[in-house]
Amino acid sequence: MRVHGMRRSRGVVVAVAVLAWSLARLAPVIVAQPQSSCLLAGTDSAAILDELSGIRAKDSVIRLTGFTRTPASSGFHDAVEFLQESLRQAGVPDVHVESYGTDAPQPWSVRRRPGLPSWEVRRAELRSMDPPRRIASFEEEPICLARYSRPGHVVADLVDVGVGVSPADYVNKDVRGKLVLATGYANRVDELAVGGFGAAGVIVSGGSSYSPRTGWGYPDMVNWQVLNPRASGGREPSFAFVISQDEGEWLREQLRGRRTLRLEADVDATLADAPQEVLTAAIPGTSHPDEQVLLLGHLDHVRPSANDNASGSSALLEVARSLQRLIRSGRLVRPARTIRFLWMTEGAGTVGYLNAHPDVGGHTVAALNLDMVGEYLVPGTGPMRLTRTPDSLPSFLVDTVMNMVQHVDTRVVFDPTGSDSLLNIRLAPFSANSDHYTLADGAIGIPAMLLHHAPDPFHHANIDGPDKVDPTEMHRSMFIAAATAYYLARVGPEQLPRLAAEVYGGASMRLGETAREALSLMDGVPVPERDEAYGFADRKLTHVADRELGALASISRLAPEHLPDLKPLASGLTAQATAHRAALASRYVTLTGRRPPLRVLSSGDARAERLVPRKKVRFINERWQQELQVDALTASEREWLTQYMTGTELPQVYIRVPEMLNFVDGRRTLLDIRDRVSSEFFDWSVGDDYAGHYEDMSLAARRIGIDSVLELMRLLEKGELIVLEERK
Ligand SMILES: [Zn+2]
Repeated sequence: MRVHGMRRSRGVVVAVAVLAWSLARLAPVIVAQPQSSCLLAGTDSAAILDELSGIRAKDSVIRLTGFTRTPASSGFHDAVEFLQESLRQAGVPDVHVESYGTDAPQPWSVRRRPGLPSWEVRRAELRSMDPPRRIASFEEEPICLARYSRPGHVVADLVDVGVGVSPADYVNKDVRGKLVLATGYANRVDELAVGGFGAAGVIVSGGSSYSPRTGWGYPDMVNWQVLNPRASGGREPSFAFVISQDEGEWLREQLRGRRTLRLEADVDATLADAPQEVLTAAIPGTSHPDEQVLLLGHLDHVRPSANDNASGSSALLEVARSLQRLIRSGRLVRPARTIRFLWMTEGAGTVGYLNAHPDVGGHTVAALNLDMVGEYLVPGTGPMRLTRTPDSLPSFLVDTVMNMVQHVDTRVVFDPTGSDSLLNIRLAPFSANSDHYTLADGAIGIPAMLLHHAPDPFHHANIDGPDKVDPTEMHRSMFIAAATAYYLARVGPEQLPRLAAEVYGGASMRLGETAREALSLMDGVPVPERDEAYGFADRKLTHVADRELGALASISRLAPEHLPDLKPLASGLTAQATAHRAALASRYVTLTGRRPPLRVLSSGDARAERLVPRKKVRFINERWQQELQVDALTASEREWLTQYMTGTELPQVYIRVPEMLNFVDGRRTLLDIRDRVSSEFFDWSVGDDYAGHYEDMSLAARRIGIDSVLELMRLLEKGELIVLEERK
């Protein structure tokens, strides 16, 4: 009944959508439209929307998912060749592959890092001898072999070790020379079972490398796992087969009621040093070709990895093809700045590109990272998320992107073969989960945002196939990317007041939102914590006002020679912040009958207020742990650091420490830096598929213990990354 009703209404929606779609296609220019709120001219946005095709993009997704796109390996190379050929056929200029050998210069590193090796698998199969049965085959599903598995041929009995990630799982079990069946993270199981207890190899079933919730309701799901690409602690990993929960159950069923189950595991694979390939293409700018807008997406991952990230890679191809066609045909004016496209290995490829072009931050005005941009919005799948730039790097980019989102929201955008889902997009806090993180790093300084969908129940699994990619959602993502890039590549001094108004409006909304959080924080805490809450709330208002003034000021980056007058809007933002702070203070008086307290500094706070950190060497902040001279630290200092970075003292420590370094500019005090990072909220954390976005303003989430920050900075100084200067 319900299904029937849904089908009927769906039919009506589709009919209306198709009608609207055809009308939009037939008459995008003729129909008189109210003045558009879009930053782009109406004819430009209509032309971009019309030329982009979700169907074409999905065709490329289908092609790309046929490749096992292991970094620096033949499948990745084949995918690069496919894209390269497609770009050439589309007439996109400046298509070439950059290749970074293992001896390439690394100006962004203090200490040389080995790149990712290539990993070529000729054969990998796991079989049961009796009853004879094929359990996993690399040819069929390459995801069944954990990446960087080493070669081996083993005929051995199977031992079930449960989760297999702690020594307790191995008590009273003889695994020596045997294959172990576990449910934990393959790399850890390998370290313990093979490295610690002498097992011959690893089989992991069900579960997930990321979240225990992933895979619920999908018993045939096989999750993607990765072993150490390099020897760790003097030991090379062995191999790990990864099988579904159902297949694991079949093995456990066989083990029950019989003494042994004999399996044959056969892995023929090679690891070698190999260059990283980065594919790039560019639509050159006319008057400012040295300035660029960067669109990027990672091409690597196991087959099929459709949404992650054949979707982003294909979206980039379709955006490049469409913009090039529109410009060549004269439907769009050639932009002033260059629009550059980048397809690379996540992390390693981006860092390779930055090392090969160490000054790219200086001439890149903005970047959009497309990673998982085409999901069908089925139950369990999160909305499209657009992550803000970090608070350390406020930018006009956020409101430019949100303007394009608004535009897409006022149009019927369904692709003919795509879904009729409605737009579901939200602006999300800054996150560390893809390449935008490195670009927006304080060292590089490129305002960068991520377009992605999260949570995605099929992420890093065999069932992330092309059937999960929706041409309609691809169309919307591609429009946001193409329109933003084209606008920022074109925008000149005369359009900047309009952009400034956009930033002013967005900034005012965010300030208002912060006022709501600040007031509710102070009202929500028990009386003994009220003064502390007032301090946090007031400082957050100040911090957000600074950030938004920074976003407004960033507009001058687009026309350094013709600075628009931003003073009236800046005064407006300052006045709003002052009014919000006054409202907060007034509420404090009402609640307590006292005037708001002056800040009392602890001795640690006072020490931090006298210290000004400055970077001593050039490194990408998010990679500080790899750059630190750990030999300079004592064993107990190293232990403290490990505890701080992996323990529970500081939530989101993985992103907050790099963000502290992002704020280091040789002028800010350590106290100011700590205060700013305690005001900032981040969304992404591994193993957490929380889908909401209201900032956690609880005091617990805001507290960053100053004594630990002082110790951390002392160790960073000892490890030769920064110097701490006494403030004069
Ligand atoms: Zn990805």
